[in-house]
Amino acid sequence: MAIFSNPSFDQHEKVLFVSDEASGLKAIVAVHDTTMGPAVGGCRMWPYASDEEAITDVLRLSRGMTYKNALAGLQFGGGKSVIIGDHRTDKSDELFRAFGRAIDALGGVYYSAEDVGITTADIMTAHQETPYMMGLEGKSGDPSPYTALGTFLGIKAAVKYQRGVDDLTGIKVAVQGLGHVGYYLCEHLYQAGAELIVCDLNDTQLERAKRELNATVVGLDEIYSQEVDVYAPCALGATINDITLPQLKATIVAGCANNQLAELRHGEQLRDRGILYAPDYVINAGGIINVSFERDYNADAAEAKVRKIYQTLLDIFAKADESGQTTGVVADEMARAIIAANRS
Ligand code: NAD
Repeated sequence: MAIFSNPSFDQHEKVLFVSDEASGLKAIVAVHDTTMGPAVGGCRMWPYASDEEAITDVLRLSRGMTYKNALAGLQFGGGKSVIIGDHRTDKSDELFRAFGRAIDALGGVYYSAEDVGITTADIMTAHQETPYMMGLEGKSGDPSPYTALGTFLGIKAAVKYQRGVDDLTGIKVAVQGLGHVGYYLCEHLYQAGAELIVCDLNDTQLERAKRELNATVVGLDEIYSQEVDVYAPCALGATINDITLPQLKATIVAGCANNQLAELRHGEQLRDRGILYAPDYVINAGGIINVSFERDYNADAAEAKVRKIYQTLLDIFAKADESGQTTGVVADEMARAIIAANRS
């Protein structure tokens, strides 16, 4: 299995493979870059179809964290971890304690937190074995409401930039995934007067969205072709790909999911079709911004910093138009410039 020649390998500083037979833990930790500070990024639990899929995911996600943390103005490097398993059936206290011991052995080079399939309770269990966990109960807690707020503001910024209006009344948004972040995002959008078209695997969440937010439910494969203004991917990555992109009728792609573009060229195709793309790691930085206030937690200060996502995105959109580059490339260049300045 290729690691150094894997297309997603980007001079990662460390990649750690962890196995603990007693608890069944199989995990991979990737520390991408610690120039800005200790690597910080959540842990994802997912039943990956293959080890290669898990490696690619952790390599891409950890690199994204380096850029996300730098652009959000945080003194954190980038890292991420994945636990290979089904979050509905494979969780146990022992598993998360073994995960905590593995993170502890890294000695503070990497701090973990929650991501898809992981709850704050799981992080608290791992925290019994290590201080290197963030998003703790009684401190910054669940990052999802802040990720949702940042994503909501990012959608507002995209609508403002593209249409010149500061109002979401009547704006139609197709939200894919009503999980921790997606549901909070839908609540913000509903309160702002937007119309919601939603899909998820989870019928309970769909029923709730219909009841509470007057949302229209569509099938999993129908979400891309909806007659909407905004497509908001809030489930897993790579949903902008060769199959889905030609179906899009939205003129804005702005959601919280990580790694939304299957490949870089899909960013170019979005631009060429006049679709404004809010780079994923910029719009979804609200949660990590909140986590960065962990030591001396202050909700108002955290929210004020999350609100800066709006202006950061407006700057990226303008620079992309001036230079003809994609918004993703512009964001990467801005992040790299911050890291380079810090290095020197
Ligand atoms: P979550 O697991 O709570 O929610 C994901 C939701 O997507 C679930 O309801 C799931 O049923 C649904 N889903 C899965 N596959 C789907 C499909 N094919 N079609 C439609 N729905 C599907 O996760 P989350 O914490 O809400 O995170 C969502 C995304 O946002 C992830 O990509 C995550 O990496 C990213 N993100 C989350 C945070 C955070 O603060 N939680 C921060 C930054 C980025």
